[in-house]
Amino acid sequence: MNGFDPDCIFCKIARGEIPSRKAYEDEELLAFHDIRPVAPVHLLLIPKAHVPSLYDVTDAHAPLMGRIMAMAGRLAREQGAADGFRAIVNTGRVGRQEVMHVHVHVIGGPDPLGPMIVRKGF
Ligand code: 5GP
Ligand code: ZN
Repeated sequence: MNGFDPDCIFCKIARGEIPSRKAYEDEELLAFHDIRPVAPVHLLLIPKAHVPSLYDVTDAHAPLMGRIMAMAGRLAREQGAADGFRAIVNTGRVGRQEVMHVHVHVIGGPDPLGPMIVRKGF
């Protein structure tokens, strides 16, 4: 649970080796503002320990991931998304995950977001 990947950008952010605008931090979690926000509120919530993706999350991580989900609403409200937000976990190639350190996007603001995903009509 305490893994660190020296090539992982979010591990470096978690350790303060790369600066970030933090919204919340404790021993095991960090929330910081996305560098390329897609909405007025765009936070990334991460475990400090390196876990590559949701595929790698097991029962052992349940308390930690539960805490991340529990933080999402509180931080969304605090940061200006008090009337709804979206929590997204992009996973793997198909999910277009760019940073291989599991993270929950918390996206919102005063106005409704666009559609979640473009419908392709399956
Ligand atoms: P993904 O596509 O993996 O779900 O999302 C990765 C997110 O990390 C992107 O929204 C991207 O803007 C953000 N990001 C990538 N590098 C950095 C960084 O160095 N600092 C911050 N704050 N966000 C980053
Ligand atoms: Zn990492």
